[in-house]
Amino acid sequence: MAIRDSARGAAYLECTRCGQPYPSDRLHRLSPCCEKPLYPRYDLDAIRPHFRPADLATREATMWRYAEVLPVRDPAFRLTLGEGFTPLIDAPRLAAELGVRRVWVKDEGQNPTGSFKARGLAMAVARAWELGVKAVAIPSAGNAGSAMAAYAAAAGLEAHVVVPEDTPRPIVEEIRSLGADLELIPGLITDAGRRVGEGVAAYGWFDVSTLKEPYRVEGKKTMGYELFEQLGGRLPDVIVYPTGGGTGLVGMWKAFEEMERLGWIGPERPKMVTVQAAGCAPIVRAWESGAQEAGTWEGAHTYASGLRVPRAVGDFLILQAIRASGGAAVAVPDAAMAEWVLRMGRTTGIFAAPEGGATAAAVPVLLERGVISADDEVVLFNTGSGLKYISA
Ligand SMILES: *Cc1c(COP(=O)(O)O)cnc(C)c1O
Repeated sequence: MAIRDSARGAAYLECTRCGQPYPSDRLHRLSPCCEKPLYPRYDLDAIRPHFRPADLATREATMWRYAEVLPVRDPAFRLTLGEGFTPLIDAPRLAAELGVRRVWVKDEGQNPTGSFKARGLAMAVARAWELGVKAVAIPSAGNAGSAMAAYAAAAGLEAHVVVPEDTPRPIVEEIRSLGADLELIPGLITDAGRRVGEGVAAYGWFDVSTLKEPYRVEGKKTMGYELFEQLGGRLPDVIVYPTGGGTGLVGMWKAFEEMERLGWIGPERPKMVTVQAAGCAPIVRAWESGAQEAGTWEGAHTYASGLRVPRAVGDFLILQAIRASGGAAVAVPDAAMAEWVLRMGRTTGIFAAPEGGATAAAVPVLLERGVISADDEVVLFNTGSGLKYISA
């Protein structure tokens, strides 16, 4: 592998609320100072001279090609099942249906375990493993659970997954087949979180809930680096992202900031658009009301299980990125997601998850509101494979 030994992991971790630094060589969850997500920070000035886009061409086609800006230090801990470097698919007929100049679909359904959760969980499990963790645990709407189970199996770690009882069947079977200890509970991912908390307290499991440990975001941020590489060294006008916990959206935003410090891009940014389900839209509600934080959405319901996240720990980070980019947050009903899964399928050959359908469903709304123009180049994130939702 053509990755230099200069990949040394993060220099330190930083509280996303107050900037307080923490050492990066031990396990952390939320920042002790503010109970907010911690971000890994790298010595980008030292990395910059020998981490240039041209250096990447011959590297392996996984997210580990960006090792210099990733937290795992020892290459022996770079767990891989082939995650990342998913295709960016040009979709001219979908663009024509949507009425915009150019549409690309970043097809994250081609990741191991059929969703982009593979990126974040590969990173979190690998780093926890490197730091000596023996048992990992996760509350999940489904896809994060199967991704964690896969990487825990690859590393030989104990895996504990708690999911709502109405999680799509294929995902439940997948988690079981990957050897995890699985518990199905009544309620939502927030209820699953409480159950995992009990296991953490009783058995010392390490909880890899999104943004409650510092490394899933580092896996997801690689989508930002990939967009730049796959578009030949530039970024699109608009990124439409189906947002649950928002890890990928804030991760790409972090990647762009790093890429600017590395001298790859200037200060320009794509408009970041959050799409949520009409039945669970806490970020949209907060964005519309001008709030800095989102609070909890009561009575969450949508068949897009990845979007059934009533409360996001990184809410303020999502809202900051949307606002700073001139983007927007829109909610779409389940029926529109389902309709656009079909229209995307017929015009592109991609069998999308409902969350992917949601991104296409948002485009007419964005055009109507003037957030994007017909002349824009738009990237839609299909975050998972439609095959995982067959029973839904
Ligand atoms: C988890 C998930 C999402 C939401 O991702 P976040 O980064 O947590 O916002 C979207 N789509 C699918 C298929 C998912 O599994």
